[in-house]
Amino acid sequence: MVTITGTAQKSSWDRGVLPPVEQVRPGLWSVPVPIPINPLRYVLVYAFELSGGGVGLVDAGWDTDEAWGALQDGLAVFGARPGDVRAVVVTHVHPDHYGLADRVRRSSGAWIGLHPADAALLKDGPAGAEGLIRAMRALLEHAGVPEHTLPDPSEASTQAHTLLSMAQPDVLLDDAQMLELPGWDLRVIWTPGHSPGHVCLYSDDQRLLLSGDHVLPRITPNISFHSPQVPNPLGNYLESLARMRALAPDEILPGHEYRFSDLRSRVAEIERHHAARLAEIEHALDRQPGSTAWELATSLEWSRQWAELSAFMRRAAGGETLAHVALLERRGRVRQEPGVPARFYLEEGSPRSPAGPLSAAMPPCPPSGVARPGAPGRGAF
Ligand SMILES: [Zn+2]
Ligand SMILES: [Zn+2]
Repeated sequence: MVTITGTAQKSSWDRGVLPPVEQVRPGLWSVPVPIPINPLRYVLVYAFELSGGGVGLVDAGWDTDEAWGALQDGLAVFGARPGDVRAVVVTHVHPDHYGLADRVRRSSGAWIGLHPADAALLKDGPAGAEGLIRAMRALLEHAGVPEHTLPDPSEASTQAHTLLSMAQPDVLLDDAQMLELPGWDLRVIWTPGHSPGHVCLYSDDQRLLLSGDHVLPRITPNISFHSPQVPNPLGNYLESLARMRALAPDEILPGHEYRFSDLRSRVAEIERHHAARLAEIEHALDRQPGSTAWELATSLEWSRQWAELSAFMRRAAGGETLAHVALLERRGRVRQEPGVPARFYLEEGSPRSPAGPLSAAMPPCPPSGVARPGAPGRGAF
């Protein structure tokens, strides 16, 4: 049974207000940084006071003046300033975590750490926007997203530029690497799925897990397509989730919502959620053979009625459905009739060999709020 340990955060969540800056352990602070126009409301930045002086951050926030102000105010609670920051270790490249890292670096000279699989998404810089937009569109068409629900060119361009104009990291994080944060023993655990280079951080000394968006107490992270090189993101995610079973933290410090304990219970809940989702999709294909990913998405249960979902959220729902179908293909449960859009059928008889990779990319920072009701709830950035 998951226990909420961040009770002040939960109470703030229920009241719809920003939670307080809190001292989580001696020298470790939780700083909520608001995200503009998003139901997740804030990202939780963790600030570590380093032995010998200075501060190390895990995640930074969205690049807005409001977020920058909240980060400065949070640091001031324990007498620090942005200029004191020595390192910004970022769990993944999504703009709500990574966006503000460069402003911190410019004000302090801090190094920014990111996993290479996420850094690769930035490698082309703004010049790669046209290619990314084309790849996103190709994937949406592959999934059968109707023309009127495709992002309009300016929206697609804004999304692509928001991602691709973010700065390159200084340090590429390896799985199992110990971070250079004096006074702290934080180990990198590569957990691809929500993004290709998502990492969690673990302290054996403190028995703490910083879980980013990989494991959250109430919602499940949105699992969708980021890159042509990642053909089975949900399979990656579930493997990464299984890695959590080797850990026994006293407390989990997530990137959103509130702190909690009993990691294994939460992992089991999320696994049950995806198993149920996969079964639901097989069921739908049994009733409607030859469905596209989009048609499947419209027939599944979501947190709100399909008609109430915005076009942005519907596309995220389509991407998430496609991630589930891709895993079913890998497992030999479903076969794809190639084409644009691709159509899917339940596989008869013995499992066949894995399907080839899907050929394009989804929006790199998918929206929240689309998974169905009940545990574990809504999807996350
Ligand atoms: Zn996030
Ligand atoms: Zn995210």
